[in-house]
Amino acid sequence: MKVLLEQGLEALGITPPEGAVDQLVRYGELLLEQNKVMNLTAITQPDQVAALHFLDSAALLGCASLEGASLVDVGTGAGFPGMVLKILVPGLHLTLVDSLAKRLDWLSTVCAELGLERVTLRHARAEELAWEDGWRDAFDFATARAVADLRVLTELCLPYVRPGGRFLAMKAAGCQPEVDAAGRAVSVLGGRLRPAFCYTIPGTEVERVVVPVEKTAPTPQGYPRRWAKIQKAPL
Ligand code: SAM
Repeated sequence: MKVLLEQGLEALGITPPEGAVDQLVRYGELLLEQNKVMNLTAITQPDQVAALHFLDSAALLGCASLEGASLVDVGTGAGFPGMVLKILVPGLHLTLVDSLAKRLDWLSTVCAELGLERVTLRHARAEELAWEDGWRDAFDFATARAVADLRVLTELCLPYVRPGGRFLAMKAAGCQPEVDAAGRAVSVLGGRLRPAFCYTIPGTEVERVVVPVEKTAPTPQGYPRRWAKIQKAPL
C-alpha cells in the first residue's frame, strides 16, 4: 500500500508531510481490521483502499488550498474525505459529522493512535446540527462524499459554509444531470455553482468529479429544513 500511495500522491502533485504516508498505511490497517466487526467499507483489499478511499479523498487537494482552513466533513462514515485531508494537511481544522455514533467512536480512537490534533468529532444529523450556535455560516469548507443526491446534499452541507467559503461535493463522473437538477437548491441556499474539477484516481481508470459550490450569501431563514421535508420535497 505504501508504494501505491507514494506514487499516487506524486501523480496528484501532492507532496505529503513527513510521516503522512505511514499514517495512511496505519489508518488502512485499522480500517480493514475494524471492518471485520463493524460495517465501515465495502472495499476489503488494501490496494483498493489506497486508491478508492485514500487517493480519491486526497485528489480534492487539487482544487482547494486547506492549510489553516476550517472544514466540516458531513456524513464522514469511516473518515472520507476528512481524515485523509487532515493527514495530508496537518494545519487543517477538521470537524467530522455523522449520524452514526459508533463510526465516530472508532474514528476518535484512530485520531488518538495516529496522533492527529485539532479534530472535532460530532455525532448528529447534519440538518439538525446546522441550527446550533456556532455551526451555521461558520466553516471555510464543507465536504461530502457518497452521502446523498446533490439537491439534498446542498441543503445538508451549504448551511455550514461561511459566505465566501465553498462546499465541495465529491461525485462520480457523469454527474452533470445531478448537478443541473441541483441548480435551484444551490441558489435558494445562497450559493453559486463553480466549474467542476475532474480527475482520474491514480493507478485506476476511475473518473471522479469535485463539484464546488461557492457560498455567496448567509443561509436564508428556515434552512435546512427537517429531514422528512427535505426528502419529501427536495429543493
Ligand atoms: N463519506 C464517507 C465515504 O465516502 O466513504 C461515508 C459514506 S456513507 C455511504 C454515508 C454516511 O453518511 C454514513 O456514515 C451515514 O451515517 C452518514 N449520513 C447520512 N445522512 C446523514 C445526515 N443527515 N447527517 C449526518 N450523517 C449522515
